[in-house]
Amino acid sequence: CDTLDKARSFLSSCSGPVSLHNFVGGKYIAPHGSSAKSSQLNSFEPKTGRLIYTLPCTQPDAVEEAINNAKSAFPSWSRTTRAERSATLRRVSELLQQNRELFAVWESTDQGKTLERARVEVDRAVSNFSYFSTFILHEQTAARMIDGVALTYEHRSPAGVFALISPWNMPLYLLTWKIAPCLAFGCTAVAKPSEVTSMTAFLLGGIFQKAGVPPGVINIIFGDGATTGAALVASPLINGVSFTGGTQTGIAIRRLAAHQIGKHLSLELGGKNPTLVFADSMEPSVRERTIRVAAMAAFENQGEICLCGSRIYVEKSAYSDFVREFTAYVKEKYIVGQTVGAVASIQHYDKIRRYLELAVEQKATFHLGSAPPTLHEDGTQGYWIEPTILTDVAKDSAIQIDEIFGAVVTITPFDNEEEGIQLANDSEYGLAAILLTTDGARMRRVGEQLEAGLVWVNCWLVRELGTPFGGMKNSGTGREGGEHSRDVFTVVRTLHLPA
Ligand code: NAD
Repeated sequence: CDTLDKARSFLSSCSGPVSLHNFVGGKYIAPHGSSAKSSQLNSFEPKTGRLIYTLPCTQPDAVEEAINNAKSAFPSWSRTTRAERSATLRRVSELLQQNRELFAVWESTDQGKTLERARVEVDRAVSNFSYFSTFILHEQTAARMIDGVALTYEHRSPAGVFALISPWNMPLYLLTWKIAPCLAFGCTAVAKPSEVTSMTAFLLGGIFQKAGVPPGVINIIFGDGATTGAALVASPLINGVSFTGGTQTGIAIRRLAAHQIGKHLSLELGGKNPTLVFADSMEPSVRERTIRVAAMAAFENQGEICLCGSRIYVEKSAYSDFVREFTAYVKEKYIVGQTVGAVASIQHYDKIRRYLELAVEQKATFHLGSAPPTLHEDGTQGYWIEPTILTDVAKDSAIQIDEIFGAVVTITPFDNEEEGIQLANDSEYGLAAILLTTDGARMRRVGEQLEAGLVWVNCWLVRELGTPFGGMKNSGTGREGGEHSRDVFTVVRTLHLPA
């Protein structure tokens, strides 16, 4: 496939699995060198369990070839004007918008999410490109005079060639959240999506061709983390890594990059986020909102969003009402196969299933859901798990501590504000927190004590793309979004000129 149109007709004409090719130097290229000899990876449709495509496990020599393409493209791309880069990104955003349905259908097929959810994420991917296409036009640098002796100002330049690595939960949205600012700020890149969900990244190559992004500016390669991802991150030609994924992988990436002190690292990692429900938020006038926000935060995208609130803490006086009404609401609104999709892979299905078996063993109370059966390796039924609501789970249970990353929530009572904050912060992670209360003073008082990079009060997942996005503690380092993305993708020198 060398254009998006061909990709589209190719995909629709295939009755069997499709074979994805890397997009390097502006072209789709068949695996060659040692990548041709190594075995391909398989990707399965979560809703049915059938094999839908294969992808190369790109080997280090082919990774290097992609990096060299990005490196060769860097000098001229980094010298383009902001207006030129802005126009290119705008074309990307328009083309993506025009192909919304193609991307949404594939995202839903590949990841397991509902089509409705996939459409929202394609729209957000479109916004990633349109936002950064205009952001760079409005950047300003302030100059300062030092005692009439020297004039000083910050001069920024693109930081170089980046490795952009993303996970499987929101494949297109999270990859474009990296590609858009990377290209906007004048860097070039080799992007690697998750081996579990590579299809929309494959289709993106066609969009970049059509939009006239010069060859080599953005290269997209496929493969697993241990071979392809590690070779990419460790390359001395890579000037920076923007990574979103699990905390253990973040630690491995830090190690791989440790010998290059100047390598920019932006690590957006895992979470085990608390939802803190105060009794005032269960008053009749706001009750519906409280239940709706807590449920959405728990179960959107099958709980496969790093920002999901999976540990719910409820003030004791409202606890039993909350458990009852939350359960009834989820039962009515979150229906497997309709508003709840399939989980992304059989490996992830097994991981969630093990936690639910542990819940049975530990005699937790299941208000909704149950431990699902073991699937056969061919997974022909698809990977479906009912939303699960648990109470009576001990504080030190792995169910309360580990990031399950599925539609499993625990509900625990707390006595007072101090204990609520203490329970919410009792985690190695610090990505997001949801606070449900009507007390204005408490919103600030508690909100400012929560150890989380993002705190939502009476709402969830509301985002403005300029706000800092990222986590505290083991949830990551660095922030992305607006000027924070600029810090990731540029280097700064401070110039001092005689007055
Ligand atoms: P993962 O860490 O297993 O994989 C993420 C990506 O890293 C994949 O592309 C994978 O191939 C690659 N990778 C794996 N090992 C590597 C290595 N040694 N070197 C380089 N690359 C390597 O994560 P996942 O299972 O795909 O995604 C789920 C995780 O992502 C969860 O922990 C979730 O919280 C997190 N996540 C975080 C955010 C955020 O913004 N903080 C957003 C979405 C998902």
